[in-house]
Amino acid sequence: MNFDISALLLLGLGYLLALFGAAWLTERKQLPERLTRHPAVHVLALGVFASAWTFYGIFGLAHDTGYAYLTSYLGASAAFLLAPVTLIPILRITRRHQLSSLADLFAFRFRSGRVGTLTTLLTLFTSLPLISIQIQALADSLPMLNSQISSSRAAAGFCVVIALFSILFGARHASLRNSHNGLVFAIALASLIKLVALLAIAFYAFWFILGGPSGLEQWLSANPEHLTALRQPPQADHWQILLLAFFACAFVMPHMFQIAFTENLPTESLYRASWGVPLFLLALALAVPPVLWAAIKSGALANPEYMVLQLGQSLQQPWLSMLAFIGGLSAASGIIIVATVALASMLQNHVVLPLIKVPDSVRFYAWLLWVRRLIILGLMLGSYLFFHFIGHRFALNQLGLLAFIGFLQFLPGVLATLYWPRASRNGFLLGLAAGFTVWATGLLVPMMGIESSLPAGALSADQLVDDSHRSAMLSLAANVLMLIIGSLLFPGSRQERSAADACTLNALPGPTGRQLKVENEEDFIARLSPRLGSSPARREVRRALRELQLPDGQLKPLDTLRLRTQLEQNLSGLLGPVEAAALLQPLDDKMDAGFKARNVHLLEQQLETYDQRLSGLAAELDQLRRYHRATLQRLPLGACTIDAQKRILFWNAEMEFFTGLAADEALDLSLSELPFPWDTLLGSFAATGDLHQEARCIEVQGGQRWFSLHKAPLDDAPEPGMVLLIEDETQHQQLARKLAHSERLASIGRFAAGVAHEIGNPVTGIACLAQNLKLETEQPEVLDTGDQIVDQTRRINRIVQSLVRFAHTGRQEGPEHFEVINLHETVAEAIHLVSLDRRGRQQHFYNDVPASLLISGDLQLLLQVFVNLLNNASDASEEAGDIRVEAHLQEQSVEVWITDDGTGIPPELQSQLFEPFFTTKEPGKGTGLGLPLVYNIIAQHYGNIEILSPANKKQNKGTRVVITLPRLQEDTIPSQQPETDEEGLSG
Ligand code: ADP
Ligand code: MG
Repeated sequence: MNFDISALLLLGLGYLLALFGAAWLTERKQLPERLTRHPAVHVLALGVFASAWTFYGIFGLAHDTGYAYLTSYLGASAAFLLAPVTLIPILRITRRHQLSSLADLFAFRFRSGRVGTLTTLLTLFTSLPLISIQIQALADSLPMLNSQISSSRAAAGFCVVIALFSILFGARHASLRNSHNGLVFAIALASLIKLVALLAIAFYAFWFILGGPSGLEQWLSANPEHLTALRQPPQADHWQILLLAFFACAFVMPHMFQIAFTENLPTESLYRASWGVPLFLLALALAVPPVLWAAIKSGALANPEYMVLQLGQSLQQPWLSMLAFIGGLSAASGIIIVATVALASMLQNHVVLPLIKVPDSVRFYAWLLWVRRLIILGLMLGSYLFFHFIGHRFALNQLGLLAFIGFLQFLPGVLATLYWPRASRNGFLLGLAAGFTVWATGLLVPMMGIESSLPAGALSADQLVDDSHRSAMLSLAANVLMLIIGSLLFPGSRQERSAADACTLNALPGPTGRQLKVENEEDFIARLSPRLGSSPARREVRRALRELQLPDGQLKPLDTLRLRTQLEQNLSGLLGPVEAAALLQPLDDKMDAGFKARNVHLLEQQLETYDQRLSGLAAELDQLRRYHRATLQRLPLGACTIDAQKRILFWNAEMEFFTGLAADEALDLSLSELPFPWDTLLGSFAATGDLHQEARCIEVQGGQRWFSLHKAPLDDAPEPGMVLLIEDETQHQQLARKLAHSERLASIGRFAAGVAHEIGNPVTGIACLAQNLKLETEQPEVLDTGDQIVDQTRRINRIVQSLVRFAHTGRQEGPEHFEVINLHETVAEAIHLVSLDRRGRQQHFYNDVPASLLISGDLQLLLQVFVNLLNNASDASEEAGDIRVEAHLQEQSVEVWITDDGTGIPPELQSQLFEPFFTTKEPGKGTGLGLPLVYNIIAQHYGNIEILSPANKKQNKGTRVVITLPRLQEDTIPSQQPETDEEGLSG
């Protein structure tokens, strides 16, 4: 049966145009999103796995080897069923690091451009037979439908159309990680069409040719050898290794990698694919036996590989042939389109970009796109040439198995990436080289040698499976062995290790620790400009800043590093990981092996955004981390950790409170960069050998504060350094000082009482004796001496008296004895008492206390207070000085000011004023007990005393004593007016 050429062309082109249309409408968002973004789209797009090999070639395999044909379906299904341990981890890595191909993944993992280049070239090499199969399927099938069509012309035309499609829909964005929605939708559609076509043919074969279930059973019991042939393949044990090859192919083939990981689809869709794709493959696999038997029954076995097509021909059913043709066309076109797009990005990143410098004059993004388009054209041309000169001489199965076993060589690398951090670059390269060498010598070379003399298909499929089995076994064994030996002999660099850690399962990608020399975005732009051109560089940096929500301008060290990481990820999507890393490499001038501070912060920041994606043990560990972190953060002690360089890694809330320095500002600073006095306090403590320091006194905001410091080394932690704890001891210290003070006062009081008692009696005796002298002699000198003795004993008495008073107030007495006192009158009386003793001095005392002011207290004691304070003021004042007593009402208290314009008190003495026996006066004049006494009495009245000097700051003289006493509730008597008393005194 011959089909009309124009009808065939019309059908083929019409189909491809329909694909174009679907892709175009999707890109322009003309199709409903519900349809184009339907989860089934991704699953169907992954059906690209089923290529023309599956559509045509598999029947040949089923015919020759029976059940062995299932390996392809089972292997790929296994890869998807095991998605959580294979596909999902790869997806995570590629997402996070913006990796767009297998070469990117390996280049990133093994930190080497060479790895990427080698992977790309080998992938290209292995993909050529696969693409050739597709071209061949079309080139073979068209002449079967119309014997006038030349197969090479059909192949050429097909290649041109496909190249056009790939360029139009597969090279739309400069960045490789932008999804090509149109492309994905079109591929999904193609998958659907081939599924429907094959199922329809199988149904027809089953129902109408084989006669349904009963017909089939009859036929099979009449011809049991067909069932046996399927059940008992000649070399039944040979296909396990092929199973592994197809398992690997499901994700390492460039088109599968592209659809599964690079096209930007939600992660859940891969979970859906984990059962969706096996289901899809199962449907395809089930279609094989009915078609096979139907073909046998109807004698359509001229070329077993194309039995689907020949079935319609031999039955004279044109629609059946058409269905098979369209199915085959969609299977062939889908894979070529995606594979060329994927290979183009690999070649761009790993072959072209490392070799060619972007010319300065061109627009960068457009240049990138054109490079990719040219590569696609080159690829199509290369595939055509391969087909033309080599491929067409082989059966589909031969080329297919050749390619699949080639792809198997990438499996050890992928598994090592996911599960073996010790795998190193050299190990990987050695393994790959060994695997491919065995593959080439065991499979490729013999094939080339034999085939030149034999016609296509002459090698039996049995022989083929046998060969491939041996070669697959050997190459895989060599590959794995060399990978292991190589990795153990040549361990990876530090960088490689960190990339390995970022790749292993559930690992968080920690950016490697480094300190950047750049400070603002302009520095980044300047670094990128030579390679990208200045405006793309600016755009990339802006984009990264926006994504991180960072402000323009000066960046903090932490943010520079985040920006760098983000830029690397973005550029990786544009240029591939190797180029991106190389571009940003000069920024890492100051590599510092020990510097890991940023690591910890970045890790924490990433964990904050990462937690939803953690599951199982990782999620629980994260919970634990949060718990520990919160504990440290809320600890009622200042806690901070520093690394070996004394840079701050952790700074808790209490620390922020003590220092007034937010964690954001403190992190990353070294201790010496902290503001005063924290730099000295913490810096010197971190430097000393002792683990504890008690009550270090520092001056903070004008006040004294005491801190106890503790530290512990963190030698066994992942980041060697130390933890510092800071405890605020101020209150404790103040209390202790107060206690010590009153304890001292009390002991002095007891001592004073004893002394007064002991001295009192002899002094009274001396005074008596001296007075008795008057009765015993008339001699004036003796009498004079007697008077002087009496005078001196009086003086002694006074001192003793004040000692006794002091001792008396040393006892704590409660407010039971308090009465309501008029403050004005109390002060007036004190002034009176003082002035009695001030004969010959012209000092003025002013009593400015409101006459109505009442307070609660002990009159005698308060009198002593004022007498003492006025005496001090008088002593310090000049002959004609002014001394003023004022009262100021506060909300809860009364402030009494006693101000003089005397000498003032030098600052260095001010701290000792309340110490007993501290005096600056000459012996005999001062006792140094006045102020301690005052202090005691005021404390007994629940008040407070403060001495400010100089009171007159301008002239730098004078003293003001401020006494604060609690205010009485009804403290004013309305009838009395406040007035000012003035008492000018003279002897
Ligand atoms: P004394 O008056 O017996 O010396 P005090 O305890 O009353 O003992 O005073 C202690 C010291 O405080 C005094 O010696 C004096 O140096 C200083 N001082 C107290 N009040 C004043 C003041 N108003 N002006 C200057 N110095 C003062
Ligand atoms: Mg005094």
